[in-house]
Amino acid sequence: KPPSSSSSSNPSTKPALPPGMVIGPDGKPCKICTAFRNWKPRVDKPQQAQNGAQGVSGQQKTAAMMAAFASGTGFAANSQQQASTVTAPVPEPDPYARPENCPPDVEQLGRSTWTFLHTTAAYYPDKPTMAHRVNMLSLLRALPVLYPCSVCATHLGETMKTHPPDVSSRAALSRWLCEQHNEVNERLGKEKFDCSIEKLDERWKDGPAD
Ligand code: FAD
Repeated sequence: KPPSSSSSSNPSTKPALPPGMVIGPDGKPCKICTAFRNWKPRVDKPQQAQNGAQGVSGQQKTAAMMAAFASGTGFAANSQQQASTVTAPVPEPDPYARPENCPPDVEQLGRSTWTFLHTTAAYYPDKPTMAHRVNMLSLLRALPVLYPCSVCATHLGETMKTHPPDVSSRAALSRWLCEQHNEVNERLGKEKFDCSIEKLDERWKDGPAD
């Protein structure tokens, strides 16, 4: 898992970083290495906002009941109207959800990159020519140099040293990528994927059997 700083060693000189914010090799917070939800410190949501995500707030219900009694209709007599007002609350936007038009965070970048890599491996030839192999090797070797999440790139570079890419066939490349992805999954505490070619083809090429 990339290093993160949840508290500063000396709070009097450095402002505390939000939990989960990842520090880049330059010692500064690395935005593209950090999930969007960790870009700003989490604060307790006000009671109304929490309720708003699920439905109508207690405060709103009380206000509606009081208004019904005040108007003389009574809450029970007015319950049908209440129900329609109560069941269609305006959902509260999640302040930690990544807006669509925002630059990618580490998760969106990762998902898109894995999609590209696994799909490219799934369509790689069973018997690649020398040109296929050379180009695939260049693509993979470029990642530790160019991948924008520098912390991720460094990890990948390290694992590629001990476990170099296997571009000898479609199945070999798919498996190698799966193992690289599993290495990251493991570091992030996620489940490992079954790296058999059947499972990989089902996920990245053929889809599930009908
Ligand atoms: P992802 O892990 O992005 O997976 C997308 C889909 O791929 C899954 O839904 C699943 O169906 C499938 N899948 C899962 N595992 C495998 C597998 N082994 N083989 C084939 N298919 C699989 N994030 C960090 O926080 N720290 C890092 O150091 C880091 N390093 C990364 C290095 C690289 C090279 C890349 C491309 C990404 C890295 N990421 C890192 C991002 C991280 O791997 C995830 O992409 C991100 O956390 C989003 O995860 P996700 O749960 O949406 O699914």
